Amino acid sequence: MSGPVRTEDVPPDGPPSTPSSPAGAAPGAAIEVVASREATVGDVRVLRALPRRGHRTVGAWCFADHMAPPDPAGGPGGARLDIGPHPHTGLQTVTWLVAGEVVHHDSLGSEQPIRPGQLNLMTAGHGVAHAEESPPGPTAAGAQGVQLWVAQPEGTRHGPAAFEHHADSPRVEVGGTEATVLVGAFAGATSPARRDTDHMGADLLLAAGATCVPLRADHEHALVVLDGPVRVTGPGLDERAVDRGHLAYVAPGPAELTLVTLGGGRALLLGGVPFPEPIVMWWNFVARTHAEVDAARRAWAEGDDRFGAVRSGLGRAPAPPAPPWRLMGR
Ligand code: MN
Repeated sequence: MSGPVRTEDVPPDGPPSTPSSPAGAAPGAAIEVVASREATVGDVRVLRALPRRGHRTVGAWCFADHMAPPDPAGGPGGARLDIGPHPHTGLQTVTWLVAGEVVHHDSLGSEQPIRPGQLNLMTAGHGVAHAEESPPGPTAAGAQGVQLWVAQPEGTRHGPAAFEHHADSPRVEVGGTEATVLVGAFAGATSPARRDTDHMGADLLLAAGATCVPLRADHEHALVVLDGPVRVTGPGLDERAVDRGHLAYVAPGPAELTLVTLGGGRALLLGGVPFPEPIVMWWNFVARTHAEVDAARRAWAEGDDRFGAVRSGLGRAPAPPAPPWRLMGR
């Protein structure tokens, strides 16, 4: 549950990542529904909801991978998650499981099993490395959940790395829906998790029928459907059906959304003030310039102590070849 971001995720023919829409877009804008792309992380197939063309960031959220339950047709999920030591810069990883278990090891010395209902939040700053492993044993396959990345703002992205584990996060009932607030505030509940920008994330266990959820009108939002379909509408918004593996994007404006399911569902609500500056994402790095990415890649390739050392039985991820910036359109 960790990158890497490849050119397929962010097609090379566009401008650098920019806020997805102007702040204060009028209510009544359409809800945009975007399909995830299937990607592979280690041996695990995931549904990558972010970044996608047109939506490289939603608030400071810049990456969303869903490790979905395996389906009989051979869909994503189900394999052992064994991701050897690899580096990150300029981002926070938010790991949230809905089934199974993953053990996190990082270069700060953290060794932390994570189970459903618990939150791992790693801040990379100038540099950190970590490994994510399935626990030993034949039943370890099939961890399900999400890994999200949050782009760090200028004020903290060059700073020290950090790691937090929250065994419990605040829960709040909205109608019959149970929301767990992972980051920021939602429906009157506030997560204690570190937050460097004005953003929020909540896991919504949706009741059958309609639930009206409050939104911050100055936030843009994405609803990532983990179990659906979910019908999404709001004041002045057309109704859209959103299936599992799809993301619904809502520009700033509405102060609420109505979510309708037939028999219940599950979705992540991600929101935030549009990120104020363009970012450059490549492999496991979030930066602002190509030169910053190149320097991070070189430091990892050369075993520089920028990223520290991780205690893991798994092999260290090799640095990929230097990105061909000239061919990537910018
Ligand atoms: Mn990672």
